Amino acid sequence: KTTIKELLGDYKKLIHHDITVFGWVRAFRSNRFIALNDGSTINNLQIVVNFEEFSEDLIKNINTASSLKITGELVESQGAGQSIEILAKKIEILGDNFFEEMQTTILQPKKHSLEKLREQAHLRFRTNLFGAIFRIRHSVSFAIHQYFNQNQFFYLNTPIITGADAEGAGEMFGVSNFDLNNLPKNEEGEVDFEQDFFGRKTNLTVSGQLEGETASMGLGRIYTFGPTFRAENSNTTRHLAEFWMVEPEVAFNDLEDNIDLAEDFLKYVIQYVLDNCKDDLEFLDKRFSEEQKQKPEKDRAKEGLIEKLENVIAKRFKRVSYTEAIEILMNSKENKKGKFQFPVENWGTDLQSEHERFLVEKHFESPVVLFDYPKDIKAFYMRQNDDGKTVAAMDVLFPGIGEIIGGSQREERLNILKAKMKEMHVDEKELWWYLDTRKFGSVPHAGFGLGLERLVLFVTGMTNIRDVIPFPRTPKNAEF
Ligand code: ATP
Ligand code: MG
Ligand code: MG
Ligand code: MG
Repeated sequence: KTTIKELLGDYKKLIHHDITVFGWVRAFRSNRFIALNDGSTINNLQIVVNFEEFSEDLIKNINTASSLKITGELVESQGAGQSIEILAKKIEILGDNFFEEMQTTILQPKKHSLEKLREQAHLRFRTNLFGAIFRIRHSVSFAIHQYFNQNQFFYLNTPIITGADAEGAGEMFGVSNFDLNNLPKNEEGEVDFEQDFFGRKTNLTVSGQLEGETASMGLGRIYTFGPTFRAENSNTTRHLAEFWMVEPEVAFNDLEDNIDLAEDFLKYVIQYVLDNCKDDLEFLDKRFSEEQKQKPEKDRAKEGLIEKLENVIAKRFKRVSYTEAIEILMNSKENKKGKFQFPVENWGTDLQSEHERFLVEKHFESPVVLFDYPKDIKAFYMRQNDDGKTVAAMDVLFPGIGEIIGGSQREERLNILKAKMKEMHVDEKELWWYLDTRKFGSVPHAGFGLGLERLVLFVTGMTNIRDVIPFPRTPKNAEF
């Protein structure tokens, strides 16, 4: 069987041959043409149908949701807009298609809102927009694996069910095989997790980092790429309860190596999409500019989607210390005029996405890597700097999104790590295995986490993270 993508790419030797194609009807012009699409590409295959040659019954049953198998002669097209077309000789309807019910779905050919499309996430794969998005999502994932493979990283799977809490801060989904209506209790009247499947309290992973680190302390360069779960109670356009995270961990790397890796990696993936997803990007680029035209002039993006991607990879990312960034934010007009929802008042405060986006979009007009954050707003495992106040953390901030990557050099010195855990109330006994790696041949090492969906948001020009994952998990939303 040939996909439409293959056919459109290489048809010369098939001209005037009979071929068979499969697909769904994208558009149906009742007098002569069917635009057929099989999902392999944004481009449709034009089918020329001479209606007199087919039964009225068959034609009557074809609409914009029909699934068809078509055999006919492949010819070069005279019309503008496509290189080839098929002169249909045989048309077969492949499956049921209830016309009346279709009218209430997003398959009805008219413009539907993104909210509406989200409610029918199981059908939106059939639309041009979501076809383009998910083909690009695939290419981003593929490029990620390719980048690491070319750079001698090993793809390593860390557990999805774990006893470890990498980030602290109660964002975990518990995992249990208890009957929730009949929980076993211990003598103190608390739930007795010793009787649970794993004999302890477990949860869905919030990050594979800690386990990934232990692997890097033997395999050198590893990366994990798996689902991550956070019970985020924030209902934002950049948070999901289930998302995919890419986490390289690298032995012998320091913070600067880590930033270099993050920048090189992001540029590689974006370049890959520019090189390999032309048709889908052009479609999204057009959609993006049409969307911009609807906005008041002052709110319009300065560059098109493709232009934006090309510009981002052309320049070196701006590298700025947290301290410098805070100065800039505190002294900004926006801050003084009370334009931020969260005013920036002192060194030590955590940055909100509005601040991150201000730095990227207004101040530097470039992706920004912030480094050396105050230790109190970062996790226990980040390496203490000599100033005693900051840690060797880094966040990569992108236009339109804010934080896309968070990472750090990890604390490799046992005594300092232990002191930090004590200070932050992280139980040493729970993480005995993590501490072991600092006891037997500890080495400097660093790593980061990239949220796959945030990168896909960036390269597709979409604005809501729910639209770049096939089945978004958000509060009160896990139907399918
Ligand atoms: P944020 O500040 O946006 O909440 P974070 O600092 O909590 O992110 P990290 O723990 O640093 O996130 O995780 C690493 C990366 O994972 C982030 O830079 C981001 O790209 C992604 N990420 C984190 N939380 C989510 C989420 N709920 N949904 C989607 N991606 C996420
Ligand atoms: Mg968060
Ligand atoms: Mg953050
Ligand atoms: Mg972070």
